[in-house]
Amino acid sequence: MRYVSTRGNAPILGFDEVVLTGLAADGGLYVPEAWPSLDEDEWRDLRGRSHAEVAHRIIRRFVGAALTEDELADLLEAAYARFDHPAVAPLHQIGPHDWLMELFHGPTLAFKDHAMQVLGPLFELLLTRAGRRVTIVAATSGDTGSAAIEACRDRDAIDVFVLHPKGRVSEVQRRQMTTVDAPNVHNIAVNGTFDDCQTLVKSLFADADFRDDVGLSAVNSINWARIVAQVVYYAWAGVALGAPDRSLGFSVPTGNFGNVFAGYVARQMGLPVDRLVIGSNRNDILTRFLETGTMSQETVVPTLSPSMDIQISSNFERLLYDIHGRDAAEVRAAMQQFRQSGAYDIPDDLHQELLGLFRGHRLTDEETTEAIRVIHQTTGELVDPHTAIGIVAGQVAGRRDEGGVTVSLATAHPAKFPDAVERATGIRPPLPARLADLYDRSERMVEAPNDTRALQAIVREGLRR
Ligand SMILES: *Cc1c(COP(=O)(O)O)cnc(C)c1O
Repeated sequence: MRYVSTRGNAPILGFDEVVLTGLAADGGLYVPEAWPSLDEDEWRDLRGRSHAEVAHRIIRRFVGAALTEDELADLLEAAYARFDHPAVAPLHQIGPHDWLMELFHGPTLAFKDHAMQVLGPLFELLLTRAGRRVTIVAATSGDTGSAAIEACRDRDAIDVFVLHPKGRVSEVQRRQMTTVDAPNVHNIAVNGTFDDCQTLVKSLFADADFRDDVGLSAVNSINWARIVAQVVYYAWAGVALGAPDRSLGFSVPTGNFGNVFAGYVARQMGLPVDRLVIGSNRNDILTRFLETGTMSQETVVPTLSPSMDIQISSNFERLLYDIHGRDAAEVRAAMQQFRQSGAYDIPDDLHQELLGLFRGHRLTDEETTEAIRVIHQTTGELVDPHTAIGIVAGQVAGRRDEGGVTVSLATAHPAKFPDAVERATGIRPPLPARLADLYDRSERMVEAPNDTRALQAIVREGLRR
């Protein structure tokens, strides 16, 4: 399997190099040269298999010769063993044609563990084999950071630096990052927004000397292996609910477009997905884009669903590349237009094509609170604000084809956002027992200005070499 950059000016690489590299050298994102696919019998053959087996059959299509079948199988068995629930991603029925898939049973209580628990050991294996080490710098709006830290802590070949926007992540989210006591883990509170953090990370990658000097790599949602690992639960839910003999819609609370893009990949692989709903909070760049055909950036406002407080959805570039017929020159032009003017207009025919599959729906904080209350009252499910947005978006914008189903993705455990859940329902969701003393553990982090040079100095100082 070979990978190309969405901007067309970076070397073509294999899976192992793409995983270790993260962002392509031309500023683009790596995608497979062609989508692998499963035929109908191969999809049917996934039914009744364990999560690790489904994962193996999906992920091996993207790996090529980079891992042996056994190496991959062992890695996946170990990764999913760290999830609390024996089903890994249990499905609950919440309506006649509506299901909720719980993706929060991993070590840090958000769906990002699904990708990170695969990516951590994958990194270690590839690095050890190549005799290399890397410095991971990640920006987080809350959940990526802790998931990356849990996946990479105490690994000899990796130093991890996580940037979070100061004061804009929940206390549980912050503590899950800053209370990890490992010599290779560094938390940096940036005076700025998540988009500032993400731009800072990109600026480090853009500095070739720095990048090569510290062996920079990324585990944030632009890393291709994360997308691949997320395709797994779309396949899992799909076959459990009757695919390929039944069509499916998914509703996905969306920020960086990584999760919902994995749903698109599952569709390109042959899963009969006929609707992907993008749930937004007031930071609704994608919902506005689907409504108007214009992608225009506004300032980020803090909401009850901080992991979606994003105005630049990095992974969208991968979809743009595909819908532009894999024409990298078109992607370069679009990205340049967006960078220069803060807006991008998609051609009408492509806009219509997108609407054939994607819909967006936005909720204010008041609507989100009301949704948490109503969902609890009508289904008994206690859901976090992100999940509530996804459920309502699926109800409003999901497709109701004869016989089809809609699956809403529960992306975080309610105890990650206890204040919002308590305000809506009167119930304060308790943390799982293994995290019960989180509020008593001591925190470690440094503060930094929104400045590339300052960040480079912090990284150099923190390295163990
Ligand atoms: C990261 C995150 C999202 C957004 O996912 P993307 O892949 O960035 O679109 C939604 N909900 C929760 C709880 C998250 O942690």
